[in-house]
Amino acid sequence: MADTLQQLLDSPPARAVITRLGVPEATPLRRYEPGQPLLDGPALVGGGGRLRAAAERILADAGAEIRDAEAGGQGALVFDASDLASPADLRRLYEFFHPVLRRLRPSGRVVVLGAPPEGGAAVAQRALEGFVRSLAKELRRGATAQLVRVAEGAEDDLDATLRFVLSARSAYVDAQTVCVGPGESTAPDDWERPLAGRVAVVTGASRGIGAAIAETLARDGAEVVCLDVPVQGAALARVANDVGGSALQLDVTAVDAADSLRSHLLERHGGVDVVVHNAGITRDRTLARMSEAEWDVLMAVNLAAPQRLTEALLEGDALRAGGRVVCVSSMSGIAGNRGQVNYAASKAGIIGLVQALAPVLAPTRTINAVAPGFIETEMTAAMPFFTREAGRRMNSLAQGGRPVDVAETIAWMASPASGGVNGNVVRVCGQNLLGA
Ligand code: NAP
Repeated sequence: MADTLQQLLDSPPARAVITRLGVPEATPLRRYEPGQPLLDGPALVGGGGRLRAAAERILADAGAEIRDAEAGGQGALVFDASDLASPADLRRLYEFFHPVLRRLRPSGRVVVLGAPPEGGAAVAQRALEGFVRSLAKELRRGATAQLVRVAEGAEDDLDATLRFVLSARSAYVDAQTVCVGPGESTAPDDWERPLAGRVAVVTGASRGIGAAIAETLARDGAEVVCLDVPVQGAALARVANDVGGSALQLDVTAVDAADSLRSHLLERHGGVDVVVHNAGITRDRTLARMSEAEWDVLMAVNLAAPQRLTEALLEGDALRAGGRVVCVSSMSGIAGNRGQVNYAASKAGIIGLVQALAPVLAPTRTINAVAPGFIETEMTAAMPFFTREAGRRMNSLAQGGRPVDVAETIAWMASPASGGVNGNVVRVCGQNLLGA
């Protein structure tokens, strides 16, 4: 969908008026294309904790250049803060970032590596979160900042996550804290096709974010089963065809949906490796005006179905060892939203599902969630102009995200190399101001 305000900003007279009104201007984000280098400039690495060597190895493996501060034009600033243990130690953040921040290139990356905030270092490690969230708000021109907490013993599980947060795949992910624990990660033979040989099922795949997820997982090598309601059969067949996958017409709320899905996956594919619960609906109305039907149907699609389908795929091990479940939550489920008590409850419930099942699935399988913010889809295109513009601009990147931004985040969580990423909820919202 065209970004009306950006079009106006591109015309000099309109731009003068609009910028005087204080409307933030969006920088086009660097997005991933196959074959693209990891970074758009050399990386500067600092800090002296247990993660620095792993970070330097991962950067080198990915073909990134590591240079000192004098070089300028940095594509990424990576600081290992895992050894910071006291308030006084936090000064090292200032000392590393202050002299070099202005040299960060457009769509550059700031990554702070930390430890879980526990024990004697809890104060300093928890402080990293405030530092990263605020720094993300100061960065300009599409640059982002993330905190990656790595548990003791999980140093070898960092590869997929560090590559993701550094790369253009994380274009619309900003100011997030990702936790990496010890898991069973398998480095792919080819980082451009980490899902080769894997079977994925994506619900709600006929359009919007679901279609982008199917495309992205297929690009990364997966054989994708595209699932949607029978009424979307024609669009679903087109998506399945485009991604070289198969179409499965199924209403996820049907009484026999869980059995049908499990039998289909076992009979046709011998099981499944990646399950993406994307199908979701809205029935927006304030609670006092909401009908019982609007409450019931929404809970059935958005919350009861993902829970039932996941449980059914776990029974009988249809979800194979190394399996990945990824749920689509929403910023509304974190921040709440007027007129969306049903939707926000369902999307917060999804986070509960992830947190409850993560320890059950560990260490061989994982479950995580993405929580999208304002994503440019048919749904957001239908919003009134001013609501849409406000939603689009109220984030640190001053623009809406694209379905592919959600899909790239899901593809990272689905990777066999992401075995240490379990129980995370990652917002794909450009650091939206709501519930931040
Ligand atoms: P969308 O365009 O409405 O697509 C959702 C798809 O799911 C549709 O094809 C829909 O079919 C299908 N679906 C609905 N009920 C189903 C059922 N019972 N069984 C199987 N499929 C069903 O939605 P979207 O905007 O791409 O959003 C995808 C997900 O992201 C949703 O979970 C949504 O809550 C979440 N999300 C979106 C945004 C955003 O900005 N767009 C923000 C935060 C979160 P019908 O249309 O025929 O019902």
